Amino acid sequence: MRRKLGFLLGLGIGLPLFAAEKIVSGFIAKGTKWETPVFQRISDQPGPTVVIAGGIHGNEPAGAAAAEQIRHWPIPRGRLVVIPRANIPGLADGTRYLPGEPPALRDLNRQFPKTKGTPEAKGVLAKAIWGFVGGQKPDWVIDLHEGYDFHQINSKSVGSSIIDAKGKAADAVVPKMLAAVNATIADPKKKLVRLRYPVDGSLARAAHERLGAAAMILEPTTKSQPLSLRARQHRVMVHTLLRHLNMAGGGPHVLLPTNTNALRVAVYDAGGVGSSGPRNLNRILGGMKNVLFRRVGAEDIRDGVLAQFDLAIFPGGSGSKQAAALDAKGRSVVKAFVKGGGGYIGICAGSYLAASNYKWSLGISNHKTYCETIDLPNIGRKSMWYRGPSATVKMELTDAGRKILGEKIGPFDVRYQNGPIMSPMGVKGLGEFRTLAHFRSEVSRYDPQKGTMVNTPAIITGDFGKGRVFCISPHPESSRSLHKLMENAIRWTAQRE
Ligand SMILES: [Zn+2]
Repeated sequence: MRRKLGFLLGLGIGLPLFAAEKIVSGFIAKGTKWETPVFQRISDQPGPTVVIAGGIHGNEPAGAAAAEQIRHWPIPRGRLVVIPRANIPGLADGTRYLPGEPPALRDLNRQFPKTKGTPEAKGVLAKAIWGFVGGQKPDWVIDLHEGYDFHQINSKSVGSSIIDAKGKAADAVVPKMLAAVNATIADPKKKLVRLRYPVDGSLARAAHERLGAAAMILEPTTKSQPLSLRARQHRVMVHTLLRHLNMAGGGPHVLLPTNTNALRVAVYDAGGVGSSGPRNLNRILGGMKNVLFRRVGAEDIRDGVLAQFDLAIFPGGSGSKQAAALDAKGRSVVKAFVKGGGGYIGICAGSYLAASNYKWSLGISNHKTYCETIDLPNIGRKSMWYRGPSATVKMELTDAGRKILGEKIGPFDVRYQNGPIMSPMGVKGLGEFRTLAHFRSEVSRYDPQKGTMVNTPAIITGDFGKGRVFCISPHPESSRSLHKLMENAIRWTAQRE
């Protein structure tokens, strides 16, 4: 009865916990430079103990991102033990290794007890992790990694595979995990395959051989796939395992805790987005207090993840490609999110996406963009949105802009790269935008562009339903000196100023 109540609460009303679920957190290697947090969800209903590790290799951030999401999943039985960022210094440096360790000790996933070796792990962090994991008496150990290329295309890489230790328990679930994740992948060459056996010295192999756990390494592929997609593949596989064990208390796309008062920000990083925008936003969001942020992709958005967030940011890249990746369903989901009170920040491409003048644009901001196609003598037909490579221009806040974005008097430098030249569209029933900043200089590639950018709006805002829409043509997120301005934009657009 109690379990049933927990199940209803966990799913129906969105309460964070099952009625009889306890959360315990602590640290591994406490007091050392390798100190890393560990989180346990403990049900009072007996069941398996599942240990999940992420971030053992610091240049494989999707495992850490997924583990950080999975640790918030409610469980109706057993124990879910998550070490989301095993190698924090490596993650900070973006390196595979343990920074500063000698070659023989630097690969954390070779330091666990080897098949023909002694029963001890090597090095401070591996020893601490091994001691902790052994103490859990795990039934399952799942280690979240990434490979650099698709195994079916390049067999030198283990990318897009599940590498499991042999055993009946794994045999019963690995095919299900592959089927679930492969159902989300269209290209047959990019589907995941099953490989054996985890490498000697790895946590998974040691856990299998020394602790008797069913163990596996999950390896999505980094190459040409956004972080959101790789983390999503991890989630789909882990969720399939937990469902198999009757330990899944919610869906696979729970990205955040439900019991938080933090400002929750989704950063779109998938089709139509370059890599520098999300990276710069990481720096800004990572420096803000009481903010939780996650990368999301088009499939995540179509699956409804925005309901977990206060604000969505669409960074630079290509507005039309972002629109195509979202497709009609994703675009209507974004519109509904804003209409219902969610915030929207578009940076460069994201401001094309918000506009009202394209068949593919969202129509949540009452602006059009200067994008005529003109026949130029001796050059040919050219679209006027293109003004050349990245350049520095001057921008100046309006009085309304200073109220929201901070006291910056006079023109200042900002990076610009083909952002929209915005003017009123005049859509009836959609409020007019307010201008928060103007361009005070311009760049141009073609004659007809001359004079069309200087003194036009660089930053605008308007309402769409209950939500705020904030469109930025240039790239203030690229300049550290403008990060405070971006922080103010984020809090204001999320209505958390
Ligand atoms: Zn790895």
